[in-house]
Amino acid sequence: MIKHTRYAEEFQDKDRREMDSTVVTSVSSQFPSEVNELYRHERSDRHLGSLLTDLGERTLYDASAQCNRCGYCETACPTYMLTGRETISARGRNQFVRMLVEGRAKDPAEAAEALSTCLLCGACSSACYAKVPTPDIVLEGRRALDGYGDNFFARAAVKTLLDAPGLFAFWLKLAYLVKLTGLPRLAARLGLYDFLGMPGLADAEGALDRVPLRFAAELLRKDPALKPQGRTSVNWAYFAACGPNYIFTDVALATVRVLRRHAGEGVFIENQCCGLLAHNYGRLEDAREFARRNILRYEELKAAAGEFPVIADCSSCAAFMKSYEQLFTSDTEWRPRAAAFAAAVRDILEFVPADKLPHPPPEALEKAGKVTYHDSCRACHGQGIRQEPRAALRKLAGKRYAELPESDWCCGGAGAFAFTQPELSAKVLDRKLRNIASVQADTVVVGATSCLIQINAGLKTAFPSARAVHYSAFLDGLSGDKPVGK
Ligand code: SF4
Ligand code: SF4
Repeated sequence: MIKHTRYAEEFQDKDRREMDSTVVTSVSSQFPSEVNELYRHERSDRHLGSLLTDLGERTLYDASAQCNRCGYCETACPTYMLTGRETISARGRNQFVRMLVEGRAKDPAEAAEALSTCLLCGACSSACYAKVPTPDIVLEGRRALDGYGDNFFARAAVKTLLDAPGLFAFWLKLAYLVKLTGLPRLAARLGLYDFLGMPGLADAEGALDRVPLRFAAELLRKDPALKPQGRTSVNWAYFAACGPNYIFTDVALATVRVLRRHAGEGVFIENQCCGLLAHNYGRLEDAREFARRNILRYEELKAAAGEFPVIADCSSCAAFMKSYEQLFTSDTEWRPRAAAFAAAVRDILEFVPADKLPHPPPEALEKAGKVTYHDSCRACHGQGIRQEPRAALRKLAGKRYAELPESDWCCGGAGAFAFTQPELSAKVLDRKLRNIASVQADTVVVGATSCLIQINAGLKTAFPSARAVHYSAFLDGLSGDKPVGK
């Protein structure tokens, strides 16, 4: 830490000067007028308007102005620590957004770089005494940048997922079938993605070893015991996040088995996407529509069956659903409904009490080898979940459990960050891999889909004897109930 602090200080003055040179003191800004026009509170299709912070409800301006530039978060911010650049630290990003609202920022390209290179990990907010919600501020800043959210592929994916999920599933299976032919790998080897200026797609193609041709929701809907219709009481409702649903079907099925084992029978809530993808990539109105549909599913079931927890097995989605109220701060009808739904959401990481877990058979432990735990950002920084999964893993793995140094350092996955910022993502991942190697872990337990993809992609080349495993799959693998959905 001493080394890192010195590294940070060495660059701090130089880069603060660099950033200050981008500020014009006159309010008559040279920043293109259309950019300032894009940030207006009344543009609720484009902006949240106000943020729900730990210190209360704040306008974007007040939230960003709450950053007093103390720098206490600097050594927690991966992008700052790896580059030493003030402009891509939490402090720098908050300042850019404040200047954007004030109309004092001069260079849109520099603002865009600062905002697009943020991992949204939230490590800065955890370190910050004022609890400045930098990831939310950064997202609001991104939404003010011209063209953000207008990407054709992102828009088509979100719209299809929202309005025609069956068609989305069809296209995804088609893409998976093409992947199984080996053609995308060939294209990557021939450098086609580099030629097209999309090197991240080659990494995306290589990140997944296995792809499912039947999605979790299809399997779970076939299980009569999981049907919500006609239920008068419910112990839990499983929310199939897109990662476990469309990519890691085994994780979704493992979560349901774990829930049954530890909390009795429950239901599959037959949800839609939580809306995080739309929210983070500039489609705020679509994110609200996803949220409304999920809230309605919850309310229908609650009217018939009373209170129950909604369990999700991707920490990014669980954290986002816990923040649904923020999508509706100016909507008097939906705000309380969103808050009620958010209060029912639980991450699987926090749901299973450690003292209820049985000691696993020695052969299962032997297979797991040395076990460690990576704190997914939206679990630890987004939801404050740290102790519960550790208590469970310590109980299960005993002396085989080793604490991971810098366990809450982001893995660099961060949604699509690994594909949009491949070089920076690789540097962030490299530090994670070195820490995993330092404890000689064989199994790295994680709670979010993008961590699973990213860490396994890194381990495959750097430390091939080790693998990342989802928390549900790890718990399930140490037991042995019959599979669901078959
Ligand atoms: S985000 Fe918080 S910790 Fe970081 S510089 Fe601002 S006030 Fe200080
Ligand atoms: S969210 Fe993460 S990458 Fe972004 S400013 Fe905060 S610590 Fe840095």
